[in-house]
Amino acid sequence: MIRIKHLKSIEEDLNILKNSGQFRQIPDIEYKIDGKVIINGKEYVNFASNDYLGISTKQFLTDEFLSTSPKYQFSTASARLLSGTTIEFKELENTLKHLFNKEGALIFNTGYQCNLGVISSLIKKGDAVFSDKLNHASIIDGMRLAEGDFIRYKHFDYEQLEKILQAKRNNYNKALIVTESVFSMDGDIANLDKLIELKKKYNCLLMVDEAHAFCALGKGLTGYSSYNNKDIDIITATFGKAVGSFGAFCVSTGEVIDYLINKARSFIFSTSIPPINIAWTNWLLTEKLGYLKERKQNLENITENTHKLLAQRGINTVSESQIIPIITGSNERTLKVSENLRAYGYYIPAIRPPTVPEGTSRLRISLTADSKLEDFAKVLDLIQE
Ligand code: PMP
Repeated sequence: MIRIKHLKSIEEDLNILKNSGQFRQIPDIEYKIDGKVIINGKEYVNFASNDYLGISTKQFLTDEFLSTSPKYQFSTASARLLSGTTIEFKELENTLKHLFNKEGALIFNTGYQCNLGVISSLIKKGDAVFSDKLNHASIIDGMRLAEGDFIRYKHFDYEQLEKILQAKRNNYNKALIVTESVFSMDGDIANLDKLIELKKKYNCLLMVDEAHAFCALGKGLTGYSSYNNKDIDIITATFGKAVGSFGAFCVSTGEVIDYLINKARSFIFSTSIPPINIAWTNWLLTEKLGYLKERKQNLENITENTHKLLAQRGINTVSESQIIPIITGSNERTLKVSENLRAYGYYIPAIRPPTVPEGTSRLRISLTADSKLEDFAKVLDLIQE
């Protein structure tokens, strides 16, 4: 490996990561199909996918889409505000507005850029963000970029949040409470009713990141906030998970969307998503709604049966969803268990800090509509051994 001279700290930092079991490498996945990954020619059951409905690997869907739409381009070669927009973007934004029953929708290139752009542009000097401590890195980085203050409350500790709001809310102009609905690493679900109560009582805006719930949980396809959508000021989600596509969006009032178009730097200064991909997402969310709902029902069934199995075996979990963490503690132990499972044909990578807090390394099992209960049971057997 070539070393960059005079940058000893790079080598030192890499050694620290290697010595603490935190060094990461991109896996050699050759191909993915129907709940499986192929690595070095060998097939593994994929328990590490966010493609919760199994859409992205369904060849018949891709074939059908391409046969109906041969004209789409593979690049916009520009940001939206210049020439990087086409009719497909507006069509998808209209679909989202109707789906969520909101005034405005804006597509971002990724969920990361979406959360970054929304928070960093809305929160100015004199404003504050109140954020669940386990919120995703994109929310944390948005707060870091914002000019206002950010204050974190203990995961799901809404009593603590209320105390903080009592003590501090009046020091700020705008205040934004932000949470994920389904948490990405634990699969537990925020109490949105409580957060709505607090946002009303303390005159805050409420933002909910539905990355892991959009098309996967809740009524219909709009995620967990579908139950009380009108009281949630800003909803963000990604197309890169249950929809089996790429990109992300924010839905809110027309005014907030206009503001983001003018102020969100991650929107303004980045080349937009290829039209073919935008059209694929819109096709799925319009022409294939019935199929998505069918797949969502499969996901709900396997999730319910998996939780029943956990209860039968006396295994407690914080998870209330398709994301099931198995906390293994140290990095070394987690890597070892993950390797052992791989030897038996199960692909479940070790999740380590900084993705999760120190000392809580884990196997994050994510179920999809293609998952089988007997595979999950076998994984439990192997871990328990
Ligand atoms: N929010 C949450 C809660 C996520 O888990 C993720 C992806 N892991 C994102 C946002 C970012 O989405 P994307 O992958 O589209 O950038």
